[in-house]
Amino acid sequence: MHEWSLAEAVLKSSIKEAKKRNLKKLTEVKIVLGDLQGIEEEIVKFGLDNLKKDTMAEEANFIFIKEDAVFQCRNCQNTWNLKEANLHDETMKESIHFVPEVVHSFIKCPRCGSPDFEVVKGRGIYIDEITGEDSD
Ligand SMILES: [Zn+2]
Repeated sequence: MHEWSLAEAVLKSSIKEAKKRNLKKLTEVKIVLGDLQGIEEEIVKFGLDNLKKDTMAEEANFIFIKEDAVFQCRNCQNTWNLKEANLHDETMKESIHFVPEVVHSFIKCPRCGSPDFEVVKGRGIYIDEITGEDSD
């Protein structure tokens, strides 16, 4: 499952980063989750709780921070978020969360009406911060 491989990747990178900083164990990992990523936070959390056993992250607390989607128009440089995108239809919002690629068929720049825009935020998943202890 997608969420499980993500959990594995998050765990691996956190441990790698912790080792780089000479930490003995991880206590907290902050993960930023893009609104358009379509990831089930609960499943990633569940995956992490299972995978972290017998690693230096065993006692770590994984915290998820939601990042709102932000778009930028290539035509007029205007930036806006999903709330300002005027999506009245809940089903539309749902399909965007599920398949972020369809965002271009539903959203246009609210200022100039151009469909040519970039998703500048809300697309990825990344580790924002790790905290740990460097002694036993
Ligand atoms: Zn525009």
